[in-house]
Amino acid sequence: MTELCFATNNRKKLEEVSQMLEGKYKLLTLQDIGCHEELAEDQDTLEGNSRQKAEYVWQNYNINCFADDTGLEVAALNGAPGVYSARYAGPQHSDTDNVQHLLQNLEGKEDRSARFRTYITLYLNGQEHQFEGIVNGRITTEWQGDKGFGYDPVFVPEDYNHTFAQMSSAEKNAISHRGRAIQKLVAFLKAQ
Ligand code: IMP
Repeated sequence: MTELCFATNNRKKLEEVSQMLEGKYKLLTLQDIGCHEELAEDQDTLEGNSRQKAEYVWQNYNINCFADDTGLEVAALNGAPGVYSARYAGPQHSDTDNVQHLLQNLEGKEDRSARFRTYITLYLNGQEHQFEGIVNGRITTEWQGDKGFGYDPVFVPEDYNHTFAQMSSAEKNAISHRGRAIQKLVAFLKAQ
């Protein structure tokens, strides 16, 4: 079976993609390939960060690889926090701090529309391929739900009236930014 590295150490993410690939590829984490360093992601776009990580693995470990990067883009904040979503509230960035910071910055704003965007870069036999997944929605004024992570308790996807944090992971994955980007990646890999 062809081996493919997913540049993450998040086993949950890895299992999710593994299931979708239905055994066609054997997925490896960074640890599995002996990469124990923290990968740099210091670019100013999601595209750039996902490319930086996948390219690093391809060049240094010579193994086919893909990497993802996600941001929350809020219209009334001119697309912030975007690529800085993980450290929106500063370097000590807990998820709770980030969400609180977001709600404060949106206080009094009427337009609460937002979207999650995921970019995946795949390096397959030295060729780069990119896949994007987007889910549109809005930011609530109150925290709702305790599932998921990150900004899930304040994000309601379009055509729903409950947050990602109130959904099962299967329900969220079927419509989420990352789920959609992964669906495109998987369709591409299955066609190889
Ligand atoms: P990463 O690219 O997956 O590391 O995500 C960057 C930041 O975006 C994370 O620190 C989270 O705060 C946020 N984020 C990414 N994916 C999600 C999601 O599915 N729900 C809520 N927040 C997310």
